[in-house]
Amino acid sequence: MKQALIITMDGPSGSGKSTVARGLARKLGFLYLDTGAMYRAVGLKALRSKVDLADRAALARLAERARIGFKGRGGKVRVFLDGADVTRAIRRPEVSEAASRVAVVPGVRRALVKQQQMIGRSGRIVAEGRDTGTVVFPHAPLKFFVTASLAERSRRRYEEHKSAGHRMSLDRVMREVHRRDRRDRSRKVAPLKEAPGAIRIDNTRLQSGQVLDTLIAYVHRSKTHVSPS
Ligand code: C5P
Repeated sequence: MKQALIITMDGPSGSGKSTVARGLARKLGFLYLDTGAMYRAVGLKALRSKVDLADRAALARLAERARIGFKGRGGKVRVFLDGADVTRAIRRPEVSEAASRVAVVPGVRRALVKQQQMIGRSGRIVAEGRDTGTVVFPHAPLKFFVTASLAERSRRRYEEHKSAGHRMSLDRVMREVHRRDRRDRSRKVAPLKEAPGAIRIDNTRLQSGQVLDTLIAYVHRSKTHVSPS
């Protein structure tokens, strides 16, 4: 019997995992599931509805009510919140911070993990985030953990902010990336860590094309089927 093929890709902010996860999904003709975008959508909804980011019960209710959806495949996936396109809005720096704060709330995680598992039910997806290999899809047959040095990750985030027109010094970006990393790694529920059996890729000095080739080689070497369904 064919195993439902789910590939997970976890790692810290700015490790370049989104670029390679998206590229891998496109190459395989799989759905790309950006779980970070879902935490960002909840962060945005909390900011817009002025919910106190320390009010866990209110945040959990808000996450349960949020209608988060994706449209499109490959590199052009758009993110929707309650029917509106929020693809750009969720990338703003204040939403990054709100996403990282709502992500520590157990009720928020429960609501989003449930939705992620529904999306992944029929397989053929590349799921990307912090806990996709440890919590969301612990039985995925192929798991990657992508990392890069803090300096390199901060530099990438800085460039992203700059090209999106958000002005922030590199120093400040590095402090914020560091703070969010710490929050992700030390939270009680689903902290960022390598899943047992995950393949670790250090992306500090690699181009995304090289990483993608490495991942595809692993996919072909693994026992999972990637032939068209
Ligand atoms: O990956 P991205 O930076 O878009 O994620 C936004 C925030 O959502 C992260 O800072 C992290 O705290 C949280 N997140 C999470 N679990 C995931 C994906 C993202 O806690 N699976």
